[in-house]
Amino acid sequence: MVELGDSRFRACANYLEHGTCNWLVAANEDQALCRSCRLTRTTPNLSTSENVRRWAVLESAKRRLLYSILDFDLPLDDDTEGSHPPLAFEFLEDKGSNPLVAEEYVRTGYATGVITINVSEANPAQREQARSLMNEDYRTPLGHLRHESGHYYFDRLVRHSHHQADFKALFGDPDLDYEAALERYYANPPPPAPDLGFISQYARSHPLEDWAECWAHFLHIHDTMESACDSGILEQKSLESTAAWAEQWQRLSVILNELNRCMGHRDAYPFVLSPLILSKLDFIDQVVCRRSPS
Ligand SMILES: [Zn+2]
Ligand SMILES: [Zn+2]
Repeated sequence: MVELGDSRFRACANYLEHGTCNWLVAANEDQALCRSCRLTRTTPNLSTSENVRRWAVLESAKRRLLYSILDFDLPLDDDTEGSHPPLAFEFLEDKGSNPLVAEEYVRTGYATGVITINVSEANPAQREQARSLMNEDYRTPLGHLRHESGHYYFDRLVRHSHHQADFKALFGDPDLDYEAALERYYANPPPPAPDLGFISQYARSHPLEDWAECWAHFLHIHDTMESACDSGILEQKSLESTAAWAEQWQRLSVILNELNRCMGHRDAYPFVLSPLILSKLDFIDQVVCRRSPS
């Protein structure tokens, strides 16, 4: 963090124009937008203050995702062989939140490098309605972004890599018919009972969704533990093994939930990490933290 006015940096153009970004650009960089804002390919129509507000919520969550991606030194530009697209984001409106737009329905999701988020996810009332309708324990803009980034990093770090066989053993066959599995899941959702092999109900829909859900949790846990260390609640993040940091997390998340209950809020982390889920998180730890430098 630096003070505005530090001559080594200037504010991102989205701070100056819309007040939606607090990242900086190095003074010697030939860019108006910061590292995070440059990845946004489409914004909703910014002529309404409501859309600027919704866009700001999504960009703020995106910067938090980007912070972790940069911190873990994960690739996000296209690679030299051209086999991986750069990571990009689209924040789109549909008729559900604005009857004046042409798009009937925007599905939050991921395809070939692009994470698409329906801007209605930035509206707390609409998001809570969707969460309750889908019987979800947790639904946030940051959660969506972390989940969808999991699909990007599966393609980038796991598919066609030496991790393929281990992935299949833990999560299942990633090439199972995706559309059919999702159709089955939505037509006949599993009952909302804890299944100790899966971190969430949705994780049961397809091996790639199981991976993306676990990926999101890996990022939730590491980011929260880092903040806990910075604020002095936790002395140090234990990095020697997944079992070590997961044990710290289990203790921390119980405290976090208790604190939330004290304030009359829902549990911050209403999830159980079973041994099988820990194996999945350990696999992600291997893919992210113990990979050879690219
Ligand atoms: Zn920016
Ligand atoms: Zn997904």
